Formats: sequence, structure tokens, C-alpha cells
Amino acid sequence: MAKRRIEELKELLQKYDYHYHVLDQPLVEDSTYDLLLKELKELEDKFPDLVTPDSPTQRVGGQVLQGFSTVIHKTPMLSLANAFNDGDLRDFANRIYKTLGEKVKYVCELKIDGLAVSLIYQGGMLVQGATRGDGERGEDITQNIKAIKGIPLKLQRPVDLEVRGEVYMPKKSFELLNKEREEKGEPLFANPRNAAAGTLRQLDPKIVASRNLAAFFYGVVESTELGDSHRENLQKVKELGLPTNPHVAVFDEIEDVISYCQRWHEERNTLPYEIDGIVIKVDSLKQQQRLGFTAKSPRWAIAYKFPAQKAISVVKDIELTV
Ligand code: NAD
Repeated sequence: MAKRRIEELKELLQKYDYHYHVLDQPLVEDSTYDLLLKELKELEDKFPDLVTPDSPTQRVGGQVLQGFSTVIHKTPMLSLANAFNDGDLRDFANRIYKTLGEKVKYVCELKIDGLAVSLIYQGGMLVQGATRGDGERGEDITQNIKAIKGIPLKLQRPVDLEVRGEVYMPKKSFELLNKEREEKGEPLFANPRNAAAGTLRQLDPKIVASRNLAAFFYGVVESTELGDSHRENLQKVKELGLPTNPHVAVFDEIEDVISYCQRWHEERNTLPYEIDGIVIKVDSLKQQQRLGFTAKSPRWAIAYKFPAQKAISVVKDIELTV
């Protein structure tokens, strides 16, 4: 019974992965995908003998497309573990306390719904931009990255830096793009994330330049100017001239993190870009190091995923009719 369901889930998720990551045409809502992946993971945890290397639970992200040369990430671009409710966040905090035996500071950032990129600057000059791909190997999209106006070609200081961030399409640009496509009879993009992904993979950087992509940077991998904490590094990234998101909060207690997640769940629609959750990271780099990584994700971070937008309106409808 479990074996059959596992096979069924793997097949379904592989199909959804292909449509999402390779064709940029999702077949289902992210929350539906996440629920099926969670079910698969729980079944595999119960029956570890049934885990196969081709299972979607064993992979990070998408595939490398043809048309761009391949970049090997010196430091893999991992995924994030997910939290779907308050209990998952409390479990995250408990795991951390159990490992470290001391308190931590949690940095909360918006989880921008775009596409992960990794940029390399040498002596302050942009030399490479890459997609995440399967986490180990991505696509070299340097020319397209250079076509995004908000990304500096030269930093404020001549540092060597590898920095990670999210390229996204603002809601206004997305609406405009789809309107133009409708007028031309071209197929529409499903959402801003898919529009950003489709744009970043254009072989002609002029098309990228015309579509108003933007980016926020949220992680330093290597730098000749490394700080002691994640917050300090975010500050340095900002000072170097890279765009960073202004909504960053720091908390000592997981209960405050939970309230912050709830607040943004309610207020997400006020932002000019889409977010699909909140990313919570342990601030101290020393503590991050002690917590380390699983094969797929860091143990010092978690992505709290908002419930699907549609589900919220259903809840509201029910409340109104009661
Ligand atoms: P993820 O989206 O759960 O989280 C990791 C990513 O978050 C990072 O790679 C980074 O790009 C992003 N991110 C945004 N803001 C960040 C910040 N401030 N700090 C750190 N990271 C930040 O992980 P994933 O492996 O990219 O998961 C795949 C996602 O794709 C899931 O959301 C899933 O629902 C979706 N998906 C959907 C379908 C579908 O058919 N709808 C299919 C496959 C995957």
C-alpha cells in the first residue's frame, strides 16, 4: 500500500517538477505540490527502505537547460527546510536549542517568490551570474544578469564576493508583460515567478532588459569582507551597492517569530512583489557553523510557507456564512 502510494507520488511530483522548473508552466499551486512532497517525505521517513535516489525528496531544484554553459557551484546552492505551521517553527527552535545548548537570535526575512541566483564579483567587478540549477550545477546567465538594471556591475569597494539572492518580477511589470502578450496573442505567464524564470532563461539579453526584472540579495557565501553575523553581512551587501530587502527583523524568541510570520501572512498583498513565506535564519555565523547542513538544506534556517491564497478566501467565505 505505502509502496504504491510512494510510486504514485514520485511520478506525480516528477511531472510537476518538470513543468515548473523546465517549462516554467506549473500544473498545480505550490501549496498542492508542497503537500504532496510532505506526504511523500513522511511515508519515506516511515519506510526508509523505500527511498530511491530518484525521489523528489532527494533533489534540490531543477535541471540545467541547454543553451547556456554550465557553472559548477563551488559551494552548492541548497534548498531550505519548510515549516507549514507554528508547531514546525517550535520544532525548529527546539532542535537548535538541543544541538547548541544555548539561545540564538533569529533573523526573519521575506521569502521572495522568484529565482535563486549566485553572483561572483572579483575586485568589485561582476564576473559571473548563475542559476541554481540542480544545486551543484547551474546555468551561466551572466549576460542576462548584466541586463538587470538594479544589479551593480561594479561594487562600491574592490572586494571578492560570492553572493546569493533572488531575481523577481515586480507585480506591475508582470501585469504589463501579460497585457502585452495578450494583445499579441502570445501565451500568458502563470505568475510573476514563472515570468521571471522564463525571462532569465532568454538567450537574448535585450529581452531581459525590456522586462524590468529586479533582485534582492540575502546571503554571502564568500567575501574578503566577512562579518560575524548574518545581519552584519546583509549590511555589508547593502553598503557594497547590492539591493537588499528592507524588511528584516530580529527576535530572541520563536513565539515572536511566529507572530511576525502571521503578520506578513496578512500583509503580504501590500507589497509590490510576491512573497511565499518568511525565511528564518540563525544570526551568528559561529552558531550556523556548529549547526551545519543536511544533504539538502542548512540546519540553521527554515522557510515558513504561507498557506495558499485560495485557501484563505475559502476560510473567509465559510466564516461569513456561519
Ligand atoms: P524553497 O522555495 O522552499 O526555498 C528555497 C529558496 O528560497 C531559495 O533557493 C531561494 O531561492 C528562496 N529565497 C527567497 N527569499 C529568500 C531569503 N530571504 N533567504 C533565503 N532564501 C530565499 O525551496 P525550493 O527548493 O526552491 O522549492 C521549490 C519551490 O518550488 C517550492 O516552493 C515548491 O512549492 C515549488 N514547486 C512548485 C511546483 C508546482 O508544480 N507548483 C513544482 C516544483 C516546485
